[in-house]
Amino acid sequence: MKRIAIYGKGGIGKSTTVSNLSAAMAKLGLTVLQIGCDPKADSTRNLTGGKNIPTVLDTLRDKGDVELDDIVFKSETGVLCVESGGPVPGVGCAGRGIITAFETLEELDAYAVFSPDVVLYDVLGDVVCGGFAMPIRGGYADEVCIVTSGEMMSLYAAANIAQAVKSFAPRGYAGLRGLIFNAKNFEGEEGLVQKAADEIDASVLFHIPRDPHVQRSEEQGKTVVEAFPDSHMAKKYQDLARLLLEGGLS
Ligand code: ADP
Ligand code: SF4
Ligand code: MG
Repeated sequence: MKRIAIYGKGGIGKSTTVSNLSAAMAKLGLTVLQIGCDPKADSTRNLTGGKNIPTVLDTLRDKGDVELDDIVFKSETGVLCVESGGPVPGVGCAGRGIITAFETLEELDAYAVFSPDVVLYDVLGDVVCGGFAMPIRGGYADEVCIVTSGEMMSLYAAANIAQAVKSFAPRGYAGLRGLIFNAKNFEGEEGLVQKAADEIDASVLFHIPRDPHVQRSEEQGKTVVEAFPDSHMAKKYQDLARLLLEGGLS
């Protein structure tokens, strides 16, 4: 089982990237579990026809007692989708939502029941507090990738996340695999990302171009990989999927 946590600033393109990776990996015949760890709970939207699935936290609140069928939803392409969810905005601790979701999945033996080949955690990374750091901790992700553009705030978030990952590493937690450059397309952007990567001693793993196919597939509630399988952009996501799978599944 390969477990990768994808971090990055809000709005930078994590969910777009992760759901395309899930779809691409599922196309390769792998069983993929995608866990949205963002109170926005829209990580898997483009895998489930543009609809938000019920979150673990909401389901726990409504039903008290949950089963796997209540919180794990299979997309058309076979990706297993989970959204941790979060508290009502302004009330309660968003990090706690992630912890509760992880504990619930474990109590219900989700990993043994589905035996996924790949688990992708899609994690909001503006803050790396206890809850948001949960996927990095022992027993969860093995590797962390950070999605960033060349914009200052997203590079700043990337540096914070990288620092948190590195400070956890001696405890046997996840290691930093590198940065995924999701371009905004402004002049000199690539150089800024490379400079920031050098400063935090990380590599730039991949360059995802900015491409209108993303919006056009989003309008259909789909990933680019499903909606435009022959496009240049679908090929990019497939290349990134293969790159992340290098080194095998364990
Ligand atoms: P996050 O999950 O990091 O908050 P999203 O994946 O929801 O961010 O992305 C925010 C918006 O950015 C999406 O609605 C999508 O339309 C756009 N986007 C992300 N990546 C790209 C890209 N490579 N090309 C074009 N648009 C993109
Ligand atoms: Fe919760 Fe994180 Fe806020 Fe702490 S910093 S209260 S863990 S969301
Ligand atoms: Mg998101």
